[in-house]
Amino acid sequence: MNNPYKSLENFKDVIKRVISESLSEFDLYQKQCFPVRPPEFFCLELNGEAGELANKEKKIWKGIDINHDELADEAADVFIALMNYSNSRNIDLGKAVANKLKVIEDRRLTL
Ligand SMILES: [Mg+2]
Repeated sequence: MNNPYKSLENFKDVIKRVISESLSEFDLYQKQCFPVRPPEFFCLELNGEAGELANKEKKIWKGIDINHDELADEAADVFIALMNYSNSRNIDLGKAVANKLKVIEDRRLTL
């Protein structure tokens, strides 16, 4: 039988490595190709992009047809803004996500 905790441990290792490496590479690209911006800029951008995604979902909720590509495009904007925010604040997002997954799992096991 599959052990969900073992799967989570493996996932945390993978996500930590993949996110950390991705953010490092993205930071190099961002610094070479775009003006330096402060963390506050990226935080506002992140929330603006999340709002755009939320507006698309609100339209779906209201019964308006939204192309899946539009959702993917907005989700990508959110992800890029989060990478920029994390890099600008020197947040090791891979480590932070792995740590948070442990907190969530510990909390789940006490319920
Ligand atoms: Mg957008």
